[in-house]
Amino acid sequence: MSPLLPGATLGVVGGGQLGRMFVLAARIMGYQTVVLDPDPASPAGLLADTHLKADYQDAVALLRMGGLCDAVTTEFENVPAAAMEMLAKHCRVAPSAAVLAVAQDRLLEKTRAREFGCDTAPFANIETEADLDAAWNLIGAPALLKTRRLGYDGKGQARVNSRAELLAAFAGMGRVPCLLEGFLPLEREVSVVLARNAADDVAFFPVAENQHRNGILDLSIVPARVPEDLADRARDMAVHLARGLDYVGVMAVEFFVLADGRIVFNEMAPRPHNSGHYTLDATACDQFQQQVRALCGLPLGDTRLLSPVVMVNILGDIWQPQPRWETLLKHPGVHLHLYGKAEARAGRKMGHYNCLAATPEAALTVALETRAALGIG
Ligand code: AMP
Repeated sequence: MSPLLPGATLGVVGGGQLGRMFVLAARIMGYQTVVLDPDPASPAGLLADTHLKADYQDAVALLRMGGLCDAVTTEFENVPAAAMEMLAKHCRVAPSAAVLAVAQDRLLEKTRAREFGCDTAPFANIETEADLDAAWNLIGAPALLKTRRLGYDGKGQARVNSRAELLAAFAGMGRVPCLLEGFLPLEREVSVVLARNAADDVAFFPVAENQHRNGILDLSIVPARVPEDLADRARDMAVHLARGLDYVGVMAVEFFVLADGRIVFNEMAPRPHNSGHYTLDATACDQFQQQVRALCGLPLGDTRLLSPVVMVNILGDIWQPQPRWETLLKHPGVHLHLYGKAEARAGRKMGHYNCLAATPEAALTVALETRAALGIG
């Protein structure tokens, strides 16, 4: 397949912050951009050359998008497979509808991850109440009940310590298909963001160490504070999965690190990832430029880490009515990214910032000080 060069038109299904940063990267590199999102104020739509304000399943809008674009990607995994299939009749699409289907369902995701050599937490499928006993007998306490679909940032999951709690949690989730997962003693969490193009070139960004608060990513520390052989194993698992799925694009894989040194696959994201936002300022090529390169069939960019970095997420909780940006921006090593969302709500991702410093310790100190000064946490 010949590479798509600047001047070509790239589309993204979804208009959130990930779409916005893709649009920015594409425009900087000289591409035209199209966003499909029903929200007239969507962060990506505001910056695109063309914003198609329609639902992701709107056949007319999809036809228009397919006609305008040379290639289309997505910024979230829950795009209906049928939409990507429809687009694929008119232009290049990556990732494929088949890969999205895997990422949309925790059961498929964990099953495929195991097939391709990843260790996972023990899990059992629950489709109806009739499956509860067998699942409980297999997994036991402590466990996490997770909806198979549409869970993110810790939503759609509940900790259960008894069969009665499991029953109640399953009812609370509306008896939708779920997974019961063994609750593991996590030492830390890490993620691998990689890119693969159609020629099977693969590039890894440095492994990030991720800390969550209330189920939402709070900090990413890079380089991750793990031994190099552990980072190698995480990269190996991630690339096996990417190749096994014939994945094209940028992909993130989240892993748990256990006290005994095991690394356990948690989930994959078929797109750039919040834990890769540090690359916007700290690697030679960032994850969104890389998404453009992978989508366009270009050689992948240099993922070298240029500086130790800590990324801090900014949620809507601290808008009272505006965060005190001066306490943040007085630090010369801080790079602020805001997503252009007009309305701040608790738990809503409004932006992030990257703290760059000469040493990992110094970057973490700036991150923690500025976080406290902004009133985060
Ligand atoms: P998830 O939505 O699956 O990414 O889960 C959100 C967060 O819950 C993870 O980042 C972990 O901190 C925690 N978590 C998820 N699954 C497990 C598990 N099996 N054992 C322990 N903690 C977990």
